[in-house]
Amino acid sequence: MQYRKLPKGAEQISVLGIGTSSIQASSEKEIEEIMDAAIENGINFFDMASSEAKPFAAYGRAIKDRRDKVYFQIHFGANYETGAYGWTTNLDTVKRSVDWQMKALQTDYIDFGFIHCIDEPADLRSIEKAGIIRYIEELKEKGVVRHIGLSSHTPELVSKVLDMGILDMLMFSINPAYDYADAADYETDSYAIGSVAERMELYRRCETEGVGISVMKAFSGGQLLDAKTSPFGRALTEYQCIQYALDKPGVLTVLSGVRNMADLKRILDFCNAMPEEKDYSVIGSFAPQDATGKCVYCNHCQPCPAGLDVGLINKYYDLARSGDELAGNHYENLAVKAESCVRCGHCNSRCPFHVDQVARMQEIVAYFNR
Ligand code: SF4
Ligand code: SF4
Repeated sequence: MQYRKLPKGAEQISVLGIGTSSIQASSEKEIEEIMDAAIENGINFFDMASSEAKPFAAYGRAIKDRRDKVYFQIHFGANYETGAYGWTTNLDTVKRSVDWQMKALQTDYIDFGFIHCIDEPADLRSIEKAGIIRYIEELKEKGVVRHIGLSSHTPELVSKVLDMGILDMLMFSINPAYDYADAADYETDSYAIGSVAERMELYRRCETEGVGISVMKAFSGGQLLDAKTSPFGRALTEYQCIQYALDKPGVLTVLSGVRNMADLKRILDFCNAMPEEKDYSVIGSFAPQDATGKCVYCNHCQPCPAGLDVGLINKYYDLARSGDELAGNHYENLAVKAESCVRCGHCNSRCPFHVDQVARMQEIVAYFNR
């Protein structure tokens, strides 16, 4: 298992995380066993926006003697009073629900306290007015909440909350179909929000400002895994989708919604998958006009005879241009920089996204030597 450090904290977060939206398909006993196997195999990050109340007590039993081994995202606005998920902006209901969630999980602290699922400016105004953000901040001041997060699908809304300067984590939906929604003819999916440029800018802003991203809907609710439902008319694999999300700036972990032990084992095998199994560059052949000419850091163009890590160099360049000073330092510390490009053109001929990397490397040299 690989781990990525939370920029504003010491937490080392597993790149594979677990979402709870589908796990109720298993019995409570099976959920405990799934949780146990996940932790034993190095997964330490769990989102608790469950579609039912059922997993909470099972998770609580599974982590009873190893609370320090896991991180939970708890949502201030998810309500389980009826036994099923409900969305609330009522402060008293939020308080009752959070207390219930903590009790069921047998914990007295919350690793990530989330402003839950807001996509509209009106929703943001109503939870501010209701005092929910203030309540999360108060719990943070008391040490009950360790970090504040936000779950949303809307770049514009996320930007407004980023402006408040309170976030350490963002839960955001990232997959090729949502990123290239226009090209994918995905108007009917209300979660595919924002142009590719706007979405990429958001990922870069998160990285620049030290806000980690936990990824939801990496498979677009399973639609991308089947040619019949994929908006591209071509299926991708789970591993391609996970790698796609992990390559985006700011991303710390990808939350897969497992239904049972077989799902967990298959997701865990991502750690042993060959690079070819994770290579998602095929999307360059059917996506998107929007994707042409823009590096997505996939490194399908490797190997470079001069030893350049083409994807990483491009990522640092894009981040540095959007104001990330750390990215500039990371670039300067690379053993092999853009200057070493011998303009052989191998990457140009291999790139499925038709990036003119020979020209781009010259541009990168000029930028960092300016
Ligand atoms: S140049 Fe093309 S193949 Fe290479 S990392 Fe960028 S997008 Fe991927
Ligand atoms: S053109 Fe430059 S970056 Fe691309 S493969 Fe050749 S040496 Fe490497």
